[in-house]
Amino acid sequence: MSIRIFPKINLPDWLLRIQRDYRLIGSTEAGDQIVFEELQYPSDLLLDHAPSILPPKKILLPQWETLLKFDTSGSSHKVEPVFDQSPTIVFGIHTCDLHAISLMDRVFGQGYPDQHYQARRKATTLVSIECLRPCSEFSFCKDMGTLSTPDDFDLHLTDLGSVYVIEVGSEKGLRVLHSAAGVREATPKDYQRLQKVMSGKWSRFSYQLDFDMTELPSLLDLSYESELWDILGEKCLSCGGCNIVCPTCNCFDVVDQVDFTLHSGSRTRVWDSCQLDRFSSVAGGHDFRSNRAARLRHRFFHKFMYQPETYGFIGCVGCGRCAQACLVSITPVEVLNDLYRRQIPYTSIEQEVLV
Ligand code: SF4
Ligand code: SF4
Repeated sequence: MSIRIFPKINLPDWLLRIQRDYRLIGSTEAGDQIVFEELQYPSDLLLDHAPSILPPKKILLPQWETLLKFDTSGSSHKVEPVFDQSPTIVFGIHTCDLHAISLMDRVFGQGYPDQHYQARRKATTLVSIECLRPCSEFSFCKDMGTLSTPDDFDLHLTDLGSVYVIEVGSEKGLRVLHSAAGVREATPKDYQRLQKVMSGKWSRFSYQLDFDMTELPSLLDLSYESELWDILGEKCLSCGGCNIVCPTCNCFDVVDQVDFTLHSGSRTRVWDSCQLDRFSSVAGGHDFRSNRAARLRHRFFHKFMYQPETYGFIGCVGCGRCAQACLVSITPVEVLNDLYRRQIPYTSIEQEVLV
């Protein structure tokens, strides 16, 4: 592990230097909410923060993203792909959101890599921060194994009071760190302090699930016919809020917009939600998830069974945003624990038969 020590007092100056060469995105306050947006002033950055309304995923996969522009006027018909390669730094990413970006990298890099995502990802430097206490009553990151950083960061900060410990994860990160003043090598004493802070943090987080996350795919497998889906389907409003705030949801629609001359326009990718009515409509008017219970069940299966099978990652990082956003209080922790309780009699019977 390559770690450096950086005085906190020098942070504003470092951010100003960064702004000379990069678009600086950071976590900041907007009213009483936290958002990731381009920072005007270094003082706007807030590092010890509650979960942002939308995850930093929106920087790599914007809500509205132009994929190509076309112009058929004149003799030469032009179609030009659009790639956003502006050098960008995203500062203040929680470790759960960093895990979500690892999953997005897998989703948009596997099979036919998505060139638009890849271009933006390559131009983006990720600076994450160690969460030393739970950031929300809804988070269950300890259950989902996202309480510490994955490998995919460029720089990772841990708050040690008057200094940050900065772990360097890549060449890209090291280049950015070169613009910071007052950085020094860590001493054995710094390592000791870091170890103390890290060992102190674990007891501040509690487990929310009644079982281990490795049991999730098999729990879902056993629960396909559970009556809980119908009960939840009665409550769910199909508003799609849970998808929109989620750092791992990645479904999108593609729409063409043509100008009034009908000669030129653009093709745009927009976020979509599997919870919306008609999301699963296909040719002939057939809708294979036409009721709310089926759509809600699909969301859970996608996150906790299909994504692990396809990408090797559980599709939920335990950020708790969907629980906070849901107007009828449908939360992943309660749904999963309820499914688990409903399976206990059956699994015990199966075990007895086996014995
Ligand atoms: S499903 Fe909910 S808790 Fe899990 S990553 Fe998405 S928003 Fe966060
Ligand atoms: S946020 Fe709640 S009500 Fe809205 S679609 Fe999701 S589960 Fe249903």
